[in-house]
Amino acid sequence: MTTARILDFIKTRRPEGPCLVVDLEVVRDNYHAFEHALPNSSIYYAVKANPAPEILSLLASLGSNFDCASVAEIQMALDAGATADRISYGNTIKKERDISRAFELGVGLFAVDSHEEVEKIARAAPGSRVFCRVLTDGEGAEWPLSRKFGCVPQMAVDVLVYAHQLGLESHGVSFHVGSQMLNLDAWDAALSDAKRVFSSLAKQGIHLKMVNMGGGFPTKYLRDIPSAEAYGQAIDAALRTHFGNQIPQTIIEPGRGMVGNAGVIKAEVVLVSRKSDNDNHRWVYLDIGKFGGLAETMDEAIRYPIRTERDQDEMQPCVLAGPTCDSADVLYEKNMYPLPVSLTIGDEVLIEGTGAYTTTYSAVAFNGFEPLKAYVI
Ligand SMILES: *Cc1c(COP(=O)(O)O)cnc(C)c1O
Repeated sequence: MTTARILDFIKTRRPEGPCLVVDLEVVRDNYHAFEHALPNSSIYYAVKANPAPEILSLLASLGSNFDCASVAEIQMALDAGATADRISYGNTIKKERDISRAFELGVGLFAVDSHEEVEKIARAAPGSRVFCRVLTDGEGAEWPLSRKFGCVPQMAVDVLVYAHQLGLESHGVSFHVGSQMLNLDAWDAALSDAKRVFSSLAKQGIHLKMVNMGGGFPTKYLRDIPSAEAYGQAIDAALRTHFGNQIPQTIIEPGRGMVGNAGVIKAEVVLVSRKSDNDNHRWVYLDIGKFGGLAETMDEAIRYPIRTERDQDEMQPCVLAGPTCDSADVLYEKNMYPLPVSLTIGDEVLIEGTGAYTTTYSAVAFNGFEPLKAYVI
């Protein structure tokens, strides 16, 4: 969403080079929409989506909690004003010394998906609360997560029993349905698995308290998406189906859905050319590509809306590519992108919906291109 504030900033400040401009008012609206859609869930913002200090401070002031994947992210959340009891160390793959450091900083809530990780936490953060992540199939997600995180529900039972035996507090179950999840039913299957873990543990006298329902809430790119309200209703219905009138505490961890539509990347056309005299298609090269922050165009998974000042002119599909000397730095080729035929070198383009997973995915200096600059307004 290119807000008037963002357009105004780009017009008046004329920032040099490609940059991301984030409108904090949109982040604030998104936070309130989540609060309203899921009033009984605590919000843990997934810091990795965009850790700009201004975003973290705003969310901390609104009452958000934070899902962090490293000690550095924990430190950022603390610096933004969150207290340690509002932080979850949600990565299931942690060095033991990082667990110790987080524990020293006051963090007491950790994700696990294996016996081995439970042992580390029992040693480095004794007595802490842990939740076990279960696998999901990612069906319906435009940016599905692999089998890298989580274990099957039956193993989650064993992992949580083991945590209990080692003196940890077996607190709950987590899952992530896959990012940019457009299927509202995805939470239903995952909550069914979560409930089975709850029941198995209850039989062994261990009473879990919490379900961490992860992220996956989408940002609008080219296609329409269901509202936050619709997600809230689907999740609420699934919770009732599986947990009846014993609904546990719940957490959501929006990343993309919190900041994606709050940011716009301003970029520039560097070259428009063809590969032969009778080539039917133009190649349009921008001053930003896969290595400058648009990594989610990998496999053409995420298709960003692109605006130019010539959008009223005739449109024709073209191959869109980045500026680096890596041949993988092509954004859209299999599914070419329609852009105005009049588009020319030096034109400004606005790439919308880029508030999440752009600055953090930008290389430091590949080919000498500077990392993506960000302005938070
Ligand atoms: C990345 C991540 C999120 C955020 O996912 P989105 O799809 O961007 O909402 C939430 N929880 C965990 C554990 C994550 O790793």
